[in-house]
Amino acid sequence: MWGSRRDRDRSAVVCIACGESLSREDAREYDKQGNRWDRRDKEFEYLCKECYRDMSHQPREDLEALLVDVEADVGGDSQEAYVEAYQREVVRRYGGTEADAEDTEGRRD
Ligand SMILES: [Zn+2]
Repeated sequence: MWGSRRDRDRSAVVCIACGESLSREDAREYDKQGNRWDRRDKEFEYLCKECYRDMSHQPREDLEALLVDVEADVGGDSQEAYVEAYQREVVRRYGGTEADAEDTEGRRD
């Protein structure tokens, strides 16, 4: 890719999943929009290699919008209310079942 040696960035970043700090060079970029290749006007978050490996690589194009909707519904309520509202909304939108969730377990690229 573009970016020469000179651009190597050794500053520390924090993994958004486990909170560990690591050098930016060792981190994996995480783009909440799910498209790391479109870099315009974006700020990336970072994951350590371990958390990156554990991350689901299933498409998640609707997730961000879904989370915003849920937050709008729940407002400033508790985290539990948020998670419950999220689960309800997922079932409403996708008809999610427990069987589906189990299906993706253990299936890592
Ligand atoms: Zn991590």
